[in-house]
Amino acid sequence: MHDYDERLTDLVFSYMRDRLAMDPVPLDHPGVKDKLDIALAGLINAEGNDPAKVLDIYADQLAPSVISADSPRFLSFIPAAPTKAALLFDMVVSCASLQGISWLEASGAIAAENQVLRLIADKAGMPGTAGGCFVSGGSAANLSALVVARDAARRTAGRPRVAVSDQAHSSITNTLNIIGVDPLVVKTSDHRLTGEALRAALEGDEAGDVIAVVATCGTTNAGIIDDLAGVAEVAREHDLWFHVDGAYGGAGLFAPSVRGLYDGIEHADSFVVDPHKWLFAPFDCAALLYRNPRLAKAVHTQDASYLDVLHTGEEEDWNPTDYAYHLTRRARGLPLWFSLAVHGVGAYTEAIEKALSLARRSADLIRENEKLELIREPTLSAVLFRRRGWTHDDYRSWSERLLAGQIGFVTPTGWEGETVARFAFLHPNTTIGIVEEILATM
Ligand SMILES: *Cc1c(COP(=O)(O)O)cnc(C)c1O
Repeated sequence: MHDYDERLTDLVFSYMRDRLAMDPVPLDHPGVKDKLDIALAGLINAEGNDPAKVLDIYADQLAPSVISADSPRFLSFIPAAPTKAALLFDMVVSCASLQGISWLEASGAIAAENQVLRLIADKAGMPGTAGGCFVSGGSAANLSALVVARDAARRTAGRPRVAVSDQAHSSITNTLNIIGVDPLVVKTSDHRLTGEALRAALEGDEAGDVIAVVATCGTTNAGIIDDLAGVAEVAREHDLWFHVDGAYGGAGLFAPSVRGLYDGIEHADSFVVDPHKWLFAPFDCAALLYRNPRLAKAVHTQDASYLDVLHTGEEEDWNPTDYAYHLTRRARGLPLWFSLAVHGVGAYTEAIEKALSLARRSADLIRENEKLELIREPTLSAVLFRRRGWTHDDYRSWSERLLAGQIGFVTPTGWEGETVARFAFLHPNTTIGIVEEILATM
């Protein structure tokens, strides 16, 4: 099974070619457990199977039970829209078993990944010394960064706290649980964390020993960008680690029409953006940057006799494994590197601006429709709105109908205790026509 097999290769390459060429990709449906169980029964046995049979089972039975995150009609949660160049290069990363653990083993891959991290750091205005690594997702990145924040503070006898807004992503709550740090939840006005609100919370009687603050650009539900400049200033005054979670919205740094909203991000001690969201990379890819990577290295470097050879003490020997909670890792930044090098940064700016303008045009359509009500002006590419008179169950059954008819995957969300409708745009091929088609079903 380690020898080159022409037939197997042709079979899989031809499947991949067909998938890449699909335009549009089908949205597909949630699976039915019994049917999936029947399709899989007995398949893994002692003797193996004809690869054509296995691939057919995948293509006919399994693949249609995975809703295509890269469909232009996938408008729930945060969609995906990897470029073809990035998808193809992901196959190269796999075929070449490219890992990106240490400079000793993988300097060629790491140098390319670091070129992309540098680009992102420059967009954020972080200093030339900033650096980090790619991890599997925003959750892993937030965890890795906040461990560094906790250990860099090291000034507490009791339980330290991290200031967060009530709009912070669920992975921040998880992180704080894991690392044994309590949240100081700062009340927001209009769901946006401001320097003023942070200052008031820090000066309140309940503040405790706050060591860090987490700001979001933009929030997952509504795309709101916190007052990064104000929060940065208060963080400086109070000697707090300033972490910025841009897993979804960080890509807006590439978009001139919204770039001003990110002012203050240049002061971040750590910053996260998920290229597998709005920078059009395949799953799974998150960029994690530190203002002072040495602090991260001191926390994350794994120490073992069999790893000593990786740590030469040479400054230029960059081991991605030293900057997050991981050791073995695939060179998951390379698909983005390849696509950026092929298409140029301008193509990314254009594609990101496309979703921003689609959000603004959709907001106009919603405002003009008397059955609908826009909940707030979109800041980025998430649009919240209500259908007058609808209950929670109305939204749920509408969403199911849309998916059953393959018109769209649009799940409702919660907003101030109410169930509402939400679009998350990101795919450059989502058109205003698709939006009109969906709104017409309400
Ligand atoms: C998506 C998201 C995360 C989590 O990222 P994963 O890649 O899903 O782990 C964290 N923060 C924000 C703001 C997000 O939108």
